[in-house]
Amino acid sequence: MSKHILVVGGGLAGTMVANGLCRRLGNELRAGQVQITLLGTSDRHLYQPALLFVPFGLAGEENLFRSQRQVLDRRVVFHVDPARQIEAVTKKVTTEAGRVFDYDYLILATGSRLMPETVPGMVEGAHWFYDLAGARKLRSALQAFTGGRIVVNINVPHKCPVAPLEMTLMLHDYLTKRGLIDRTTLTYTYPIGRLHALEPVAHWCKPVLEQRGIQSETFFNTEWIDPVNQRITSMEGVTLDYDLLITIPPHAGMEVVSTSNLGRGGWATTDPKTLLHTVHKEIFVIGDTTNIPISKAGSTAHFETETVIANITALIQEGCWSHDYDGKVFCFLETGMEEGTYTWFNYVTPPRLGPPSQMIHWFRLAYNRLYWLSVKGLL
Ligand SMILES: Cc1cc2nc3c(=O)[nH]c(=O)nc-3n(C[C@H](O)[C@H](O)[C@H](O)COP(=O)(O)OP(=O)(O)OC[C@H]3O[C@@H](n4cnc5c(N)ncnc54)[C@H](O)[C@@H]3O)c2cc1C
Repeated sequence: MSKHILVVGGGLAGTMVANGLCRRLGNELRAGQVQITLLGTSDRHLYQPALLFVPFGLAGEENLFRSQRQVLDRRVVFHVDPARQIEAVTKKVTTEAGRVFDYDYLILATGSRLMPETVPGMVEGAHWFYDLAGARKLRSALQAFTGGRIVVNINVPHKCPVAPLEMTLMLHDYLTKRGLIDRTTLTYTYPIGRLHALEPVAHWCKPVLEQRGIQSETFFNTEWIDPVNQRITSMEGVTLDYDLLITIPPHAGMEVVSTSNLGRGGWATTDPKTLLHTVHKEIFVIGDTTNIPISKAGSTAHFETETVIANITALIQEGCWSHDYDGKVFCFLETGMEEGTYTWFNYVTPPRLGPPSQMIHWFRLAYNRLYWLSVKGLL
């Protein structure tokens, strides 16, 4: 009997896993023993990491998108029809359009969403770059900026652990190049008692921020923003005045995950090694939507998809498990407009950052283009 693999979510993780399974299960697809279906929310695929470059005018919007159908292997049956309810016990998914899909394996890759509305005043008073509308608005605000107080305010949880730091360091270079740095104070806030959740990154960035005269406030958990008087106040009682507030809004998982009882807050409860849902063993969870306490990043999703592709292939072809996920994450970190570094880590090896170089920066820019090969599984 034919096995049906249903992928919910056509972002980075869902697309990579569907394409990878087509490559590995070519014979089974040809023989009609396997079918792969992907349910998404849009016929356009967004490369999110390039949003970092939009506020500085360094990423053409035409490079951010491709047709979702074109980035998917042609053997994947694709519907722009989001999942509304997942019945894990009966192994059925009902969509917004009322279609019902049975599955043998479900791959949950619904990602995360920004929740600026959960912080009073944030929608009215803050800018962000984590979606296209926000990145465009911030680009206009930066072009109009002539000096003053900029606060970069980080809220958790959020995806891409290093993007806020990259924004801060790039901003410093941008303001220097525009001759505005002497008329600007730049303050970086972080919710815990150090400058970054990853301890080695926190140690690394402390002197980097200090050398550039960037001020910082740790233990800063945003309570509310006063958009009229341009003030941001933390639960710890600190108030900062700003002329431009750049925030990373807190994130949540997708509603379908919570309404289907697969995890609180939209984060699906996931075994960190098998990437199986902790209760429903036909459901694999990948990308931002897991509740695994590691970085929510495209590279995390990428390495997770490799594990899931190998395991589903082994289960179908040999009836056995292949291997577990080791927690691998790789991050580029732009340390300015013309330099970058990188780090990698996993469940046992902590991150270590090397010296920044122009070459790594160029490689990061090249990856913005190579992504389109990578998501197709050609890299
Ligand atoms: C500014 C910025 C910079 C970043 N930089 C980096 C970086 O340098 N390196 C890095 O590794 N990562 C980076 N990231 C993070 C990276 O983009 C995400 O971690 C990655 O996209 C996660 O992949 P995903 O598939 O889990 O989620 P997504 O790519 O967000 O995809 C989830 C998809 O599921 C869809 N969906 C939601 N609900 C449903 C539903 N009910 N039914 C069907 N589909 C649904 C969504 O619409 C979306 O298309 C960055 C992110 C941002 C915003």
